[in-house]
Amino acid sequence: MNKYKLLILTCFFLLTICFSKVNAMINSYSLTGRIICLDSGHGGIDTGAKNSNIVEKDLNLILSKKLEKQLTSRGAIVYQTREDDYDLSTTTTGRKKSDLYNRAKYINQIKPDMFISIHLNATTNPSWRGLQIFYTNKNEQNKIIAEIITNYLKNNMSNVRNTKKDNSYYMYKHINYPGILIEAGFISNPNDNYLLRQSAYQDRLVALISNAIEIYFQNN
Ligand SMILES: [Zn+2]
Repeated sequence: MNKYKLLILTCFFLLTICFSKVNAMINSYSLTGRIICLDSGHGGIDTGAKNSNIVEKDLNLILSKKLEKQLTSRGAIVYQTREDDYDLSTTTTGRKKSDLYNRAKYINQIKPDMFISIHLNATTNPSWRGLQIFYTNKNEQNKIIAEIITNYLKNNMSNVRNTKKDNSYYMYKHINYPGILIEAGFISNPNDNYLLRQSAYQDRLVALISNAIEIYFQNN
């Protein structure tokens, strides 16, 4: 009899552990079912901004892939406008416009809950620095996404600039789904340039962006 009691108690104990693990997994999959499209800027012969240390297209892709890993681990379904070193242009004349148009077309086909373009900034004044999020008012959620992510980043890292509305971007005029453009830093600033090349900094940045995306989806 004691043997049976022990067996039942052991089974009960094991089941309790199993259920608590399942619950913990469900809780950590906070982005389950969310479709997110990442758009790594430039690619192929379009390098984007560059200097002796950084070619923008390469770092955009590194950040996008790291962000994809973070979001996927939280349950999101992630698409990328590009997976490697190429652009999306389908014409030789007007290549840039074709690339941007096809990115917008791809994002519209995915019908994501959110898209995020990733770029790096550069300017002739080396003192300009910091991450900045741009949005258009094409979708009313854009400003909300931009502000939630910016505020979260401001609370957790230094050198985050205020959000900026900019309706002039050709590509974003054609996207029918909510999203933002993240300029992750100025490669023309020595401090930003150094940080952006550090794997630990990249990891922390994409983890913080993912946390902020979770906050957005919890409230919207
Ligand atoms: Zn760019």
